[in-house]
Parts: sequence; structure tokens; C-alpha cells
Amino acid sequence: MELKCKIQTYDWGRHGIDSTVATLAKSANSDFTLDEKKPYAELWMGTHPNGPSHMKELNIPLDKYIKENSIVLGNDVQKIFGKHLPFLFKVLSVNKALSIQAHPNKEKAEELHQQYPTIYKDANHKPELAIALTPFEALCGFRPIREIKELLEILPELRAVIGEDKVLKFMTTDEASISKALKICFHSLMTCDPGLVALQLRKLLDRLSNLDDSLRQTLHASLLERLYSDYPGDVGCFSIYFFNFITMQPGEAIYLGPNEPHAYLFGDCIECMACSDNVVRAGLTPKLKDVPTLIEMLTYSCEPVSAKRFQPYREDECTEVFRPPVSEFSVAKITIPPGRSSYNIIPRSTASILIIINGKGEISSSKVLYRGSVIFIPANEKIGMKVLCGCHPMLMFQAFVNV
Ligand SMILES: [Zn+2]
Repeated sequence: MELKCKIQTYDWGRHGIDSTVATLAKSANSDFTLDEKKPYAELWMGTHPNGPSHMKELNIPLDKYIKENSIVLGNDVQKIFGKHLPFLFKVLSVNKALSIQAHPNKEKAEELHQQYPTIYKDANHKPELAIALTPFEALCGFRPIREIKELLEILPELRAVIGEDKVLKFMTTDEASISKALKICFHSLMTCDPGLVALQLRKLLDRLSNLDDSLRQTLHASLLERLYSDYPGDVGCFSIYFFNFITMQPGEAIYLGPNEPHAYLFGDCIECMACSDNVVRAGLTPKLKDVPTLIEMLTYSCEPVSAKRFQPYREDECTEVFRPPVSEFSVAKITIPPGRSSYNIIPRSTASILIIINGKGEISSSKVLYRGSVIFIPANEKIGMKVLCGCHPMLMFQAFVNV
């Protein structure tokens, strides 16, 4: 059951043919006109009211189809989530930073929704999994303490923004109270007078332009310059010295559980999340910032980049599964190697959505699927994929419910 999916043209998206979202849509839909000047940010696969997918042949919303034929969800899904698909599956093409953000846990989400229903519009948590399709850059979690200390030592501009007294406390405090000292420093940065932030950022950028390459690299100069050109004067530019900067290679993933600070910076990825819009933002955004809530809820655990990569496990020679510790979703990465003519997709006990990222195939002996084709698969359905163009690996991603 092929789906027609919504494209979101947010301004941070990659433009025209540079956007994987756009090229996938063009390849799978003959009626799609690709505008070189337009940002194509996200492809939404699911039932979210702001961008619901439609069944191509039946010409009805997927949500309506699921409600009327809830057996397609699978028994366990219906028991736990009712007649709903509990995840939203996406392709993202990021040209400039999305906000620094974190998502509340369920308990906090309920509290925020009750207190500020116009800002936090639902009561659900929003765990996210991102799998890179192209080299994908992000900020993710706090850096190891040693790294933050080393950066503070060589960044008088950042110390001036935080306050020398708070920095000194952080530099000299013992291990038992270090995360408290870190929280105080980060709070001080995020609530600093915007005029002082802008001044110190300018100072730092002027200094960086005169430094040699190795020091520029140590101070992440090109990243700072890039963020500054998109968000001039934004306090989020300084946050790169607190957060891990990670570049994921295609196929590598990060999982963002509750309260984990993160920001996507550049590249294309597959993303899957629980159905929620609860985002607490604090920088690199023109949208509403809720700094007090973010400061309070963050996990101030400091880990290296290597600890942030989320590992899949292998199910067979073609399928790896990323299974996060939540029941709403899992994502399978299916790669059919060149030369192989067919593959039986592993049946799932829940409904799933599958997208073809590379290659061309045929299912049910007549239906041809192209790069960018998206299909909805009912629970327990057996799908044999015949490969139609076998000179490159055929790559697909399939989201299903993790029950
Ligand atoms: Zn997020």
C-alpha cells in the first residue's frame, strides 16, 4: 500500500537538488516539481495531523485507513496505543542548524502540557533516533569534563560571558559536585545579557580570524563561524564548547532519550520519533526559547562522542535493527547487496512503514517501487522484494513498533 507523503519546506532545509528529501520525492512522484530555490527540509511518513500521509490508491488518509482497519496495527500495538500508529518516521535534509533542544520525559511532558498547553501541545515524550544518510553533523550531550575545562582555559571570551567566579568554581570543584558546577556555568551562559554575548562572540570571531590552523581547529573556528553567520549573536554559538560535536557517517546513528541536549547542524538523515511536538528550545532558533525549563531538565552527564553512537544489531545478512529503549518504534536498515536478485523482508508483528533510499524493486509481482517510494505494511505481512536494478546495493529503512 503505497503512501503519498507530506514535505515540509522549513527554512533550515537543504535547497533544490542538494536535498535528499527533494530528490526522493521527485524520483517517486511523477507529478512533483522540484524548485531549485526552495528548502526541502522534511519528509513525513505517518499520521501526524500537521502532515498526514495518504494512501495513494485508495486516496484516503492513512490515519482513517488505520482507524477503520485497526487489525493492520497488530494486536500488541492496539492494546498499548489504541488505534494509532505511535511513531512518526521522517527523512531530514538539514542546511543550517536546528535549535538547541531537548525533549521532556513522559512525566515532565504531562506537567508542561498542563501548565503551558499552548506551548507544549501534547502530554507525550519524544524520544528520537537519527540515522545518517550522508555525513551528518550534530551537537549531542555534554562533552567530557576535561574537554570543557580545556576549552574554558583558552576561551577568555566564553569565561567573560559565564563569569570568572563561576568558571573558577567549576575548574576547581571535586568530582562529587562537578555536574552541579557545570549546570551553574551553563545556566549562566544561557541567561547572560544578549548584548554581552554578542560582544564576546564578535571578539572571539575577530581573534579566530588571525589564528593558525591548528588553534583554529582546537577552537572549532569554522563551525563557530558557520553558526554565527546563520544565527548572528545567538548564545547557542557558544554552546559548541559545552556539547559534543559529532559527525556521523552514513549508517551511523544517535539515539536521543529524554533530557539529552542536542542540535542537528548539517546533512541528511532518517529520523524516527514518538508522536509528540514537545521541544524545549534554548538557542540557534528564531522560535520561542524556554531556557529555565531546559536548564532544569537537562542531564548533565558528560560523555565522549564515542558513547553517543547508537549501535544496531544484525538480524540476518541484509537487515540491521536499531532498537531504542522505548516501545513506540524501532528502525530496520535493509541493504540488499549488488548481484542478489531478491530478498524476503523479515515480517514484523506490528504495522510498519518502509522507504526505498537507493535502488528499484518489485513487490507482489507487479508493483514497482522506486527510490523514494514509501509503503505501509500491515502487521505480519510477508513481502518479497525482487531487485530490478542490481548494480548498486538496494537500501531501505523500515520503521515498526517496538513491542
Ligand atoms: Zn530533537
